[in-house]
Amino acid sequence: MKVSVDKITCTGCGTCQALCPQVFEIREDGKSYVLEGADLNCCDIHEIAASCPTGAILVED
Ligand code: SF4
Repeated sequence: MKVSVDKITCTGCGTCQALCPQVFEIREDGKSYVLEGADLNCCDIHEIAASCPTGAILVED
């Protein structure tokens, strides 16, 4: 699985980080980043992607 965040559409709302801080981190530029080496099975990535208000979380199975 590959997860990425579209930096254009991410508004930095923090929802993804709140749901899974082990995978998502809001950085100084106000955008969400997928932490390198994060265990993508530690949470329901698809559900979190669906929770993103702008659809900025891209999941490739
Ligand atoms: S939930 Fe979506 S818009 Fe909000 S910080 Fe995460 S990726 Fe960005």
